[in-house]
Amino acid sequence: MTQPKIEIYTLEWCPYCRKTKAFFKSKDLSYEEYDIADENNKQEMQERSGGEQTVPQIFIDGENIGGYDDLIKMKSSGELQEIWGMSESDFHEQLWDVTIIGAGPAGLASAVYAARKGLKVLVLAVAIGGQVIETDMIDNYIGMPDTDGQTLIKSFWDHMDKYEVRAELGERVVDIVCVDESWTEAVEQEKENAGEETKQKEKDNAADHDLEKREADVSEKNIFKLKLADDRTARTKSVIVASGTKKRELGVPGENQFKNRGVHYCAICDGFLYAGEDVAVVGGGNSGLEAALDLAKLDCQVSLIETNDHLKGDKVLQEQGLSRDSIKIFCSSRVREILGDEQVREIKIRDKDTGEFNTISVAAVFVEIGLMPNAGFIYDLVATNSRDEIIIDRKNKTDVKGIWAAGDVTDIEAKQIIIATAEGARAALEVNKYLNEI
Ligand SMILES: Cc1cc2nc3c(=O)[nH]c(=O)nc-3n(C[C@H](O)[C@H](O)[C@H](O)COP(=O)(O)OP(=O)(O)OC[C@H]3O[C@@H](n4cnc5c(N)ncnc54)[C@H](O)[C@@H]3O)c2cc1C
Repeated sequence: MTQPKIEIYTLEWCPYCRKTKAFFKSKDLSYEEYDIADENNKQEMQERSGGEQTVPQIFIDGENIGGYDDLIKMKSSGELQEIWGMSESDFHEQLWDVTIIGAGPAGLASAVYAARKGLKVLVLAVAIGGQVIETDMIDNYIGMPDTDGQTLIKSFWDHMDKYEVRAELGERVVDIVCVDESWTEAVEQEKENAGEETKQKEKDNAADHDLEKREADVSEKNIFKLKLADDRTARTKSVIVASGTKKRELGVPGENQFKNRGVHYCAICDGFLYAGEDVAVVGGGNSGLEAALDLAKLDCQVSLIETNDHLKGDKVLQEQGLSRDSIKIFCSSRVREILGDEQVREIKIRDKDTGEFNTISVAAVFVEIGLMPNAGFIYDLVATNSRDEIIIDRKNKTDVKGIWAAGDVTDIEAKQIIIATAEGARAALEVNKYLNEI
């Protein structure tokens, strides 16, 4: 079957465009790319997509399938594989030493360290790069001053690629269960599945196996089944959760209705579409202030809404924000509703001190109110804190034998790239010790 025609409308600095391209590349699929910085391409994209205001817009054989999240939904439902006629990868038939959930700094560093110890490593990730891909300027990763997210992540990915690591992008883990199965039983099952050749190989190696010891340790040796969004499972002796964080949503009326039609979560990606217009940014922390300053540079008039009675971002960003006439700050205020027709037209905010409602006309709302851990798939299994972060010890162990966690998804204080990579490395070294000792 020939590959369908894939076309993507992109912007150079849009992280979701980068994720989309990385996804297609990881599946060996080629695509045509149109940069909407060119006004003709922008107009064409809007005509072909029925007025969509956000990038990327992906077309398969001329049909608009939407953006990156829509692509992943189609991948999870099996619809995409049907269109491109590709057979599914066989990773679910094998037993892995360690499965790493996430391909951000923590996950990629874990993969390098685990592969260097000779472990059989599977990486499952929704997208390459995690939050780093969304970062335009990185100046605090030691040895790489003045870099950006895409360059840094590419260097991490290329480094991992030197080793025997099976990395599967576009795979969302939705559940993890610990099954009462010894590794011996699992290996026997593997032999059944794998056919005669492997059976003979395993037989030859049988002398090396201390089966008696293995049987005595059955309760000590957990096997985990990772369930994916499309119902397949991956089987593994150990897990490193490196699934990072995602943006918090407002949870107000109108937010869902106007997603990508004026409600956005990435000013770097979508701010460009509202150049010169009146917009709102919700959140007065570093992300909100950065978004407001970026939008002001695009000649937008920005209303910055903050729930607390003061801004929370770094002093230098606050000073820059306060000094701009084009940024108007509303502290002690909460967005109560987003209103519009086809597009966002206004937001309703409430002053917490006076109780008064105020309506502001805007073409877009950029939500920058913080992050929450991507740990929903494992809440039933491991202990988490009040912020829903996975609790780990100084060796990155969770309270479940066989499961480690690293990076921003955990309860470590500093959420930074260099720390996530170090945590990922330590988790992999600890996994290796565990597999050797047990
Ligand atoms: C705008 C912004 C600017 C920043 N700037 C800097 C900076 O200048 N310097 C700095 O040091 N740090 C910066 N940070 C913080 C830094 O990006 C994070 O600390 C770092 O990315 C954390 O890495 P991680 O691997 O733990 O998680 P992430 O980078 O979030 O990666 C998570 C990975 O898990 C995958 N995933 C999530 N859920 C699932 C699932 N259910 N199944 C499968 N895969 C899943 C994702 O697809 C992704 O691959 C910034 C963050 C942001 C948002």
